[in-house]
Amino acid sequence: MPRPLTIAPLVIAIDGPAAAGKGTLAKRLAGHYGLPYLDTGLLYRAVGRLAADRGVDLDDPEAAGAVARDLDASVIDEAVLRGREAGELASRVAVHPPVRAALNAFQRAFAARVEGAVLDGRDIGTVICPQARVKIFVTASPQVRARRRTDELLAKGRAVDYERILAEVRERDERDAGRAASPLKPAADARLLDTSELGIEAAFLAACAIVDQAAS
Ligand code: C5P
Repeated sequence: MPRPLTIAPLVIAIDGPAAAGKGTLAKRLAGHYGLPYLDTGLLYRAVGRLAADRGVDLDDPEAAGAVARDLDASVIDEAVLRGREAGELASRVAVHPPVRAALNAFQRAFAARVEGAVLDGRDIGTVICPQARVKIFVTASPQVRARRRTDELLAKGRAVDYERILAEVRERDERDAGRAASPLKPAADARLLDTSELGIEAAFLAACAIVDQAAS
């Protein structure tokens, strides 16, 4: 009897630096391909926020790891965790191996869903889902990312300074790419998508072309 044909579920791994547009892209891809979506940055943001609220030393790997093990990932309040401060806290606790280890199981279980999944973060293609069928590394120049973030904040009526945002973007890049544990970098088999010159629609179409080609 012929063996039934099995097709591996479609897992799409999206990585890239802060403010490259990967969240918007990942969400749209999830809607387009009918897949569940996990923003893994939220997990790190939740740990950073919780650690700060508890007065835990963010630079203490073991103490931050204990907070990560305590986190109930199913009750994360996204609205509270958006914003620059939580992003900063996240990137500080994300350097610690015990924090990453505590969050890995949840992410891997999400990626193992039978229907497939879209995950975005910094180490999805390299560490969490090295077997993902599609890996996209979304980038844009620091200047473009800082400009987008500045415009977003201005649109919300906040007083912001482009140069300060650019300095924050650079600092976060350095911390994320320079850490020893799961640094931000493209997987060897990731496709690069530079959105510096692309609007949201064009970036989405380019990402769909990558997915369709890789998944066929
Ligand atoms: O993607 P987002 O900006 O929400 O991530 C916040 C921070 O969390 C990142 O700057 C990074 O330090 C950390 N992070 C990570 N690994 C992931 C997702 C986020 O280290 N998979």
